[in-house]
Amino acid sequence: MNRSDVIVLGAGLAGLSAARDLAAHGVDVRVLEARHRAGGRVDQTTLPDGRLMQLGGEVIGPSHTAYTQLVAELGLTLVPAFAALPGHDVWMLADGRRVGELPFFDDADRASYERAEAEFRRLVATVDPDDPWSHPDADRLDRLSVGQWLREVGATPNVVRARDIAMLALAAESVERTSLLSDLRKEAVTGEPGFYNYDVWEVSRVAEGSATVALRMAAELGHRVTYGAEVVHVTLSSSGCTVELATGERYTADTVLSTIPAGPLRRIRIDGLSDARRASLHRQRHALTSKVTVAYAESFWAADGLNGTMYSETGMMGGTWVQRDGILSALVPPERQSAFLATAPGRVHDELIDELAAAFGPDARDAQSLIVRRYAVDPYTLGYITSWRPGDVMGVGPLHGTHEPPFYVAGSDQWVCGYMEGAVRTGRAAAAAMLTQ
Ligand SMILES: Cc1cc2nc3c(=O)[nH]c(=O)nc-3n(C[C@H](O)[C@H](O)[C@H](O)COP(=O)(O)OP(=O)(O)OC[C@H]3O[C@@H](n4cnc5c(N)ncnc54)[C@H](O)[C@@H]3O)c2cc1C
Repeated sequence: MNRSDVIVLGAGLAGLSAARDLAAHGVDVRVLEARHRAGGRVDQTTLPDGRLMQLGGEVIGPSHTAYTQLVAELGLTLVPAFAALPGHDVWMLADGRRVGELPFFDDADRASYERAEAEFRRLVATVDPDDPWSHPDADRLDRLSVGQWLREVGATPNVVRARDIAMLALAAESVERTSLLSDLRKEAVTGEPGFYNYDVWEVSRVAEGSATVALRMAAELGHRVTYGAEVVHVTLSSSGCTVELATGERYTADTVLSTIPAGPLRRIRIDGLSDARRASLHRQRHALTSKVTVAYAESFWAADGLNGTMYSETGMMGGTWVQRDGILSALVPPERQSAFLATAPGRVHDELIDELAAAFGPDARDAQSLIVRRYAVDPYTLGYITSWRPGDVMGVGPLHGTHEPPFYVAGSDQWVCGYMEGAVRTGRAAAAAMLTQ
């Protein structure tokens, strides 16, 4: 009775997009999802006034073609995201609040930034994002942190500081703990190589809500998705695979596609997998983050000529951006999780509001809603997006993103970095690989 052609583990964007394509080709597919909802790292809630608040992934860039294509197929609409908003950035620096573009830069810093970025761009052009391992200098580039490399090419301390602030606002790891090769690989997929830039990665959002992408697919798949189904054990064999849930219930199929994030995947016992693949999958890790979403009646910061974007060296939040009218998003970067997780929830709320008031003024105290999602410790995420510390690209190795039939893998961890694009791109590619098997 619990038998299908393919079992997909996880009903995030990767699992759902793979299952949708398989079902469209007449494959009998079942999706097993531990949570009682679809979407995984995309989620949303509706405010009493009807505005949707995104509690997970939100924005995409023009090179995110798999996601864009899926959005069009689902009849959803892309609209400009915060990068297009007018106004000034706010900087909460160790030495005080500043407004404007890189306010601690002088002319020498600006020239140094341009030189370092030109050199970064030159290096990006030498990296094949599908095969960074074959780069003649792959080992060295992977062992170097972005921070070390910046200093090697003569970047000023303020350039390193600016890059670090930008990375922490994204809740990525510090430039001192990020592999240069991973960063080169990530920017190589954009077609506009340079340092990570909101204008390249964070340009559009789905007007109907980014979680709606997942919800639409889950609705299409209907009974094929089983919720509250935490997978604990997978047995792989060319004569048939078995998937066992925490409840002891068993499902069988010819093929298994895992879209489980790196942390929770380590807790699943998988028999029949090669040691090399297990080592590669278990080597991956996430940046640990939490997301904060705050709703106001309106975008009050605009009256002060601000665009709602904030960068913080001092707070629990790494920065903010405008999610939509009156709603700010923020991430708590990995290095600030300990202070964040060690603080009582009520106190966290007060301290976040204090940070927002320090950045945007007293109106920031009139929040209608403040929601915190602790993805870092959520048992079914244990992270945020893949983090590549120095040595990790070579450590994970060329098995990354590949399959070992009857075991397939997809999910944003199997792309160059996290991102909704990575989930959809690898999910649909895994389905295509199964269909041509
Ligand atoms: C706070 C936050 C902000 C983000 N912002 C952006 C953004 O602006 N733009 C962008 O492109 N990306 C963003 N991302 C990343 C993006 O949301 C993810 O990369 C993408 O949604 C991951 O999809 P996935 O299907 O690969 O994994 P997931 O969405 O994590 O799906 C995996 C599924 O597996 C399930 N699962 C886990 N363990 C088990 C188990 N044992 N048994 C069964 N099921 C299990 C989970 O419940 C989950 O539903 C953000 C992520 C977070 C957390």
